[in-house]
Amino acid sequence: MEVSTNFGIDYIKTCAFAARHSYIEDMESQLISFEKRLQAKNFKVYWASSEDDLVEMVHDLLPGKYRTKVCFDLPTIPEGFNSSRISKVSIADVENGRQSPNVLFTQADFGIVETGTLAFYDRKSKNCFNTVSNIYVLLDISKLVIKASDLELILYLRSFYQSQKFLPQDLKLLNAPFLKVSENINQDGEKITQTPVEITVFLYDNGVTQILQDHQLRNALYCIDCGQCKTVCPAYEYDKEYTPIGLVRANCFEHHRTSGNLFSRALLCGNCDQVCPVQIPFTDLIIKEIQLSAPPKKGLLALSKTFERRKKLNKMSGSFFRHFFVRRMYGKNKMLLNYFRKQKEPFYNVTRMQENPQNEQ
Ligand code: SF4
Repeated sequence: MEVSTNFGIDYIKTCAFAARHSYIEDMESQLISFEKRLQAKNFKVYWASSEDDLVEMVHDLLPGKYRTKVCFDLPTIPEGFNSSRISKVSIADVENGRQSPNVLFTQADFGIVETGTLAFYDRKSKNCFNTVSNIYVLLDISKLVIKASDLELILYLRSFYQSQKFLPQDLKLLNAPFLKVSENINQDGEKITQTPVEITVFLYDNGVTQILQDHQLRNALYCIDCGQCKTVCPAYEYDKEYTPIGLVRANCFEHHRTSGNLFSRALLCGNCDQVCPVQIPFTDLIIKEIQLSAPPKKGLLALSKTFERRKKLNKMSGSFFRHFFVRRMYGKNKMLLNYFRKQKEPFYNVTRMQENPQNEQ
């Protein structure tokens, strides 16, 4: 283990940022190396550009001609998999041996380029890997690191924030082909217990290369899924719909982007800027997305009004007037109103005010 707890957390954050920067800035050649390493291990590799592309590809590859049993272990199962070709099987049934799916479809959290390794953390299906004949693995192409030591940095940060422990208990690394263990009896009465498991990896673009085209928006690809930004986000606290990184990622795409959507879901408090261990500049990205989504003058006017509100609210912190101000500004939204009323500290991010005095002129 190269990362020591003797290093301060700030040092580890700096190294994690450097690791993400190295990969994102050199993504194309790193992906090609990763693909070659997977193929050298006899893993099949496919590139899926979008959800529709993925669904179509998987349908074409499913073993058998008719209904195929698939056990999904994905954060969200694309709609397209609700088809007559697929019969869904639960992870619990596979674990208990009640069901034997033809395919286990899971998602890797990271890939390591130098070793061609797939890393899974906290996957529910981790105990079923050697009970199926086919494993399909989805991997977001932004979620790769160049070296194993880069993944250690990320794991350290994630576990530090989530449980204060050094490393998660539940890490599974898929590094080489392995065997399915079964207990079929052949005609000679012998037990056949091991057959190769076929691994198929889907390198999933889903808009990543489009985001990569923009030198500022590509910062959104640095995310390591530590979950810190959502814990400090008042908008997420109130509607649980978009995490800060979820909002920024969704609004990287023109067809999704509207200034109204951004203004109702981003309060520009800057809290996420401060906690992100890989220095994603949320406020700058959201401001850019607002400006891209609205005619410049309209966008700037709305932005200045929002900052003006923050400035006033901050100055009123703890005061009698704050109560009425919050009611006037946020009264139409009960949940948001209650959130602001509960705040003991100034809501607007003080560090950002000090670093960007021009916003407070
Ligand atoms: S964007 Fe959010 S979840 Fe991603 S690394 Fe930064 S704080 Fe963590």
